[in-house]
Amino acid sequence: MVVKIDDSKCIGCAGCVSVCPVMALTLVENKISCDAKCISCGTCVKVCPARALRL
Ligand code: SF4
Ligand code: SF4
Repeated sequence: MVVKIDDSKCIGCAGCVSVCPVMALTLVENKISCDAKCISCGTCVKVCPARALRL
């Protein structure tokens, strides 16, 4: 499973990128994407200040 990203809410802070334990998230041109390395730990969902992420 991967994280669902609401691009309209994301403010591009990169907080989620830095907390992901398996480096599954990347920020390119203010857009987050999540790849297959995601282990659904939920850490990024908790730290996102804009509530842009969900499992
Ligand atoms: S749920 Fe966990 S493993 Fe998946 S992208 Fe978020 S921090 Fe990374
Ligand atoms: S933590 Fe939330 S607002 Fe910040 S880059 Fe990630 S998805 Fe966007």
